[in-house]
Amino acid sequence: MNLARFPRIRLGHLPTPLEPMENLSRHLAGPNGGPNLWIKRDDCTGLSTGGNKTRKLEYLMADARAQGADTVITQGATQSNHARQTAAAAAKLGFECHILLEDRTGYDDAAYTQSGNVLLDKLHGATVSRRPGGADMAAEMETLAAELRAKGRKPYVIPGGGSNAVGALGYVNAALELVAQAAEIGLRIDHVVHATGSAGTQAGLVAGLVALNSGIPVLGIGVRAPREKQEANVFALAEKVVAHLGLPGIVKPEHVVANCDYVGQGYGIPTEGMVAAVKLLAEQEGILLDPVYSGKGMAGMVDLIGKGHFKPGENVVFLHTGGAVGLFGYPEAFALPAEAG
Ligand SMILES: *Cc1c(COP(=O)(O)O)cnc(C)c1O
Repeated sequence: MNLARFPRIRLGHLPTPLEPMENLSRHLAGPNGGPNLWIKRDDCTGLSTGGNKTRKLEYLMADARAQGADTVITQGATQSNHARQTAAAAAKLGFECHILLEDRTGYDDAAYTQSGNVLLDKLHGATVSRRPGGADMAAEMETLAAELRAKGRKPYVIPGGGSNAVGALGYVNAALELVAQAAEIGLRIDHVVHATGSAGTQAGLVAGLVALNSGIPVLGIGVRAPREKQEANVFALAEKVVAHLGLPGIVKPEHVVANCDYVGQGYGIPTEGMVAAVKLLAEQEGILLDPVYSGKGMAGMVDLIGKGHFKPGENVVFLHTGGAVGLFGYPEAFALPAEAG
């Protein structure tokens, strides 16, 4: 595998830190001990408060530039972290940026519709427009692209979450980075756990870890689709990624595992487990998770630890995919105490 043959524009502060979570490991250990919990800080990629989309955008924006584009179009839910990081990357690289936001939750309060990621999309100078929940967002982007082309622009369309074979190369790169980092500190990684949505992160990670013959299994905690659909989406994309890498067929269905028991009522809708997980990491480790992805991912990991899914002494790495800016879109969810005095 030779990742360097794909065009890339550096946007992230890489490598991101790989840190032990000693307090959380101790807090969650049972009478027979528990797993050693680590965290891979992809919330610290640097671009406009960071997150996992930065790695994908390194390859996507390079592809856009290689194709002669001057404009990027993308889409996401109202509090999309992908939209925010795309807006920032476009600003830095001198592209015009158009963002279509789908109202997937039906929340219409000012915090949700204007603060958090939406505030930052606009600060980065993106043109933001909204679409109703359930709209065909891929078709909406194509319609906008045609309008912009008619005006003489050269648009490049980035799919939701930046999840295609080009964007997922960012997580092949993350797999190489993680395995090298672990080797350097003598850490035997037994599991990687992260929140999975549009599938690019898991597909790229699995592709990279399998290409390296690392033997490290990945568990995606779903935030939207049911398990079968999520695993099928990730597998289909992982197959495209390894073909793009010149290694067709190396990813097998058994390499793709998702657990979608922690979605709750739906995408972007808070769960008790998410609220508890966000508070737990904030209080135990001083780390901010997000309400839509990493909070639900961590809720899943915490619950699975309680159920003995990981053996005592195993090393489990939680990939923190970012998104804490989204907390400002959900101030009510956390029922925080009144101020003292
Ligand atoms: C997009 C996102 C994810 C999910 O990554 P996918 O590649 O879409 O599966 C996880 N966490 C955060 C914070 C995200 O913004």
